[in-house]
Amino acid sequence: MEAAMLSRREFLTKCGKGFFYLAVASPLFRQEVCAYQQRRLEGKWGLVETKVSPYFQPLPGGEVQCLLCPRECVISPGERGYCEVRENRGGKLYSLVYGNPCAVHIDPIEKKPFFHVLPGTLSFSIATTGCNFECKFCQNWEISQEVPERTFNFHLPPERVVQMAKDYGCPTIASTYVEPTIFFEYMYDVSILAKRKAILSIYHSNGFINPQTLR
Ligand code: SF4
Repeated sequence: MEAAMLSRREFLTKCGKGFFYLAVASPLFRQEVCAYQQRRLEGKWGLVETKVSPYFQPLPGGEVQCLLCPRECVISPGERGYCEVRENRGGKLYSLVYGNPCAVHIDPIEKKPFFHVLPGTLSFSIATTGCNFECKFCQNWEISQEVPERTFNFHLPPERVVQMAKDYGCPTIASTYVEPTIFFEYMYDVSILAKRKAILSIYHSNGFINPQTLR
């Protein structure tokens, strides 16, 4: 049987299409698209919105005690806890970073670092400012040791996080870069919605969290 011959034009067209589909499917391309999308996300410098936390107990004199992590900060009215993102307002504890990540990226899952969970896939990664540690070697100190008033924060409610992870073909959503315990309410709501869409949640943590928070 005679082999079908391609003209020079057909050959170049097929090569071009092949390269295009390869590029679109590549993790690098999707990371670039995410970076582009990130530049188009709504956000602003400073606080975007706040949310009352269920993880506190009121104390006499208008003080509150945060129950999220073992520091169990006792916080006076108008003051914040050690992590600087949880504030006593009128005898209630508010999260100042709910739905307002300052970092949004698509990373290889190996960077989390996970080597045995869905290897070769991408992870939709978010972080807010703040941390309950002050490690001298922290590589993300510009956000972990910062207050939300001094970072650019995106408006990204949980349903939007899950939708973006789906849009970019990420089978996991990672709460990472700082200690996610300090934005636990946000991370929890994202995880509930993600599970409904068969997306796994990754929690990149120092483990400094109260056991009752996890129950
Ligand atoms: S999460 Fe923040 S405010 Fe709450 S106990 Fe820990 S350091 Fe204190």
